[in-house]
Amino acid sequence: MGVNPAAKRPVREADQGRTQRGAIGRFSQANRADPGLVHSERMKRIALLGATGSIGRQALEIIAAHPELELAAAASGSQPIDGLAPMTQVGGDLTELLERAQPDVVLNAVVGFAGLAATLWALERGIDLALANKESLVAAGELATKAWQGGEGRLLPVDSEHSAAQQCLEGRAPETVHSLVLTASGGPFRGRSREELGDVTPAEALAHPTWNMGPKITVDSATLANKGLELIEAHFLFGLDYDLIEVVIHPTSTVHALVRFRDGAALAHLGYPDMRVPISFALTYPDRAATPVPPLDLASGLTLEFEAPDLETFPLLALARHAGEQGGTYPCAFNAANEVAVAAFLEGRLSFLGIAETVEETLASVDGTPAGDLSELIEADAEARRLAERTAATA
Ligand code: MG
Repeated sequence: MGVNPAAKRPVREADQGRTQRGAIGRFSQANRADPGLVHSERMKRIALLGATGSIGRQALEIIAAHPELELAAAASGSQPIDGLAPMTQVGGDLTELLERAQPDVVLNAVVGFAGLAATLWALERGIDLALANKESLVAAGELATKAWQGGEGRLLPVDSEHSAAQQCLEGRAPETVHSLVLTASGGPFRGRSREELGDVTPAEALAHPTWNMGPKITVDSATLANKGLELIEAHFLFGLDYDLIEVVIHPTSTVHALVRFRDGAALAHLGYPDMRVPISFALTYPDRAATPVPPLDLASGLTLEFEAPDLETFPLLALARHAGEQGGTYPCAFNAANEVAVAAFLEGRLSFLGIAETVEETLASVDGTPAGDLSELIEADAEARRLAERTAATA
């Protein structure tokens, strides 16, 4: 296979040889000094957006454990966070808080499209972005990539699979990479048929077998929409074509990502499923600070099982891949329709199978025209939400 995953990210001639030649797993568009040789001793001022969610709470634990990490600002969507940080904000425009705080690192753990403005704010300014809000990269992949290239800051994914993939890819020449494998636990309904999913409840969908996460992403894991979002996220993060990214079901979530190389070798990232690992990696990069997570115990009978995803029962993964391949604002519409449908499911207004039906109908109705700027993207998002609300109401 003629693989050139970094085709979209040309490395400037002047940069070549100075650091990692044509490396695709790099953390920065700027090819800063070899990150493996850098030890950062400076205080890092962190702005934590989404401080009361699952990622936010675990990030607070990590920040508290490291004196060199300082919580400069914190924001939550609706819950009070007075006194949590020198600057706090509840709701409102997150970029106002970021402007006041001028952080070294933005940890964006907002849920959904609402995190987009903060993502673009950090990328445009070259401020390091620890990104747990995968929806912003999915919905605004092209705008975000452009902002990242212009700003030349670091983008460190706080998504276990992408953190793992970035570590496997870092410093590798693109032509040596055969393909990337993202793993999915399969969620609580793995092995069930479509017929068996007709009447599942939100409570059943929220009982994730391996990961302890917020409600939106947990439902997305049960439908495999989360892996669909991650597929698009990986495409934009690593500049890999969709046919070079495979998704496999791996029930224990021990292998987080695996990269196959052209010589037949494969590198995998393993560990217990605990979000403190990718959060800590992103916040303490490049130091890889210690966490309370125990080392992987192999001798007690660790087994690794993999299987192909059931795309008929869980069509959202295939719909996401198709939306990603179509490009333009199709990924934005996929995300918007999925957010609307998941909210309707959690409120008891839509069946579990209705989530995928709503997304599929919405994608069939939008025109997918690429967005030239943020306002066009916001309009495409709003239009997809209107269509999805209408579809969900009649499903
Ligand atoms: Mg993930």
